[in-house]
Amino acid sequence: MKLRNNLNFSGGPGALPESVLLQVQEAIIEVPGVGLSILGISHRSDWFAAVITELENNIRTLLGVSADYHVLFLQGGATQQFSMVPMTLLRGKSHPAEYLHTGYWSGKAIPEARREGPVHELWSGKENGYTRLPGDDELSFSADAPYFHYISNETVEGLQLHRVLGRDDVPRICDMSSDFLSRPCEAERYSLIYAHAQKNIGPAGVTVVLVRDELLPDRTQGNANADLPGFLNYRSHIQAHSNFNTPPVFAIYVVLLVSRWLLNEIGGVARMAGINHNKAELLYRMLDGSDDFYRGRAAVQDRSMMNVVFNLPSPEMERRFISDALEAGFSGLAGHRAIGGIRASIYNALTLSAVEQLAGFMEDFRRAHSA
Ligand SMILES: *Cc1c(COP(=O)(O)O)cnc(C)c1O
Repeated sequence: MKLRNNLNFSGGPGALPESVLLQVQEAIIEVPGVGLSILGISHRSDWFAAVITELENNIRTLLGVSADYHVLFLQGGATQQFSMVPMTLLRGKSHPAEYLHTGYWSGKAIPEARREGPVHELWSGKENGYTRLPGDDELSFSADAPYFHYISNETVEGLQLHRVLGRDDVPRICDMSSDFLSRPCEAERYSLIYAHAQKNIGPAGVTVVLVRDELLPDRTQGNANADLPGFLNYRSHIQAHSNFNTPPVFAIYVVLLVSRWLLNEIGGVARMAGINHNKAELLYRMLDGSDDFYRGRAAVQDRSMMNVVFNLPSPEMERRFISDALEAGFSGLAGHRAIGGIRASIYNALTLSAVEQLAGFMEDFRRAHSA
């Protein structure tokens, strides 16, 4: 059995575009025009400073963010942001920060915030088993919250918000790890956005943070967070231009290549969103037209364009589906260990052709196994 990289439907780390992989392959031996391997170039070199500048500019261009925002490349993944955000903005506060509990990853973020200060779970999907997201009539936001936090795409359950939530007078903070740069996101309506690279835009090791300068306390103001370790203080990374200690040069370079691919080959995030929409539509049509053989997990209005999560009539049939799919070269289709089932993750690099092949496989499998 041989897996095929273009048919990698993994929830993360996700597949990357082939044109990017070819450039990475070349850069492992020698970065064009530099003469050194990407794995051995100094993070203090002019070349790397130019990489940071270009990537920052590309992200600004792709999302249309102004100079009011810092664009940072940090380590520690999204998980470190679960802590860094409340350390910075909640420590010492008396009003609770507001969080949505929409699925598995919200369930990881909220306890980390509680270590730092009061948290109000504004809405929880627990009683519906995290199969849908809140409607506007179910949310009433406080004007006093230090910030409001949510996750734009719950990767495990396959739930995605298709609108911006919250009040414009309370800082909006969003974990976009699994849909960053997959669509336009009205970035300027958020005070802070974070997204690790390894779902949609690169390898593990780097996390992109967009943060509005006015959100962050000034070092000199005697704020609660003046005591933070340097590494956990956004201001350290701002002052050092994302070069506070040795950054993950390789991961950042791959994200740069992906940003060039988005700009030059795809033509921007609106185009990317169109492609992603077509991919997702194909699979959801397959689920909906399957006479209940494939059962989509998410409520229709909250379906994710990135993670298509579904069940088959029995766990045995799901195991058979996964193993037959592997035989056919499709990998990464097993659902997250927390909920089982099937998950087809169709991040940016998965082509429409790959998704068509999966849809074809699903159709054949259903015909062979439905009663
Ligand atoms: C995968 C994932 C995480 C966890 O990220 P790490 O980089 O492993 O810490 C957090 N949030 C979301 C939405 C995710 O999909």
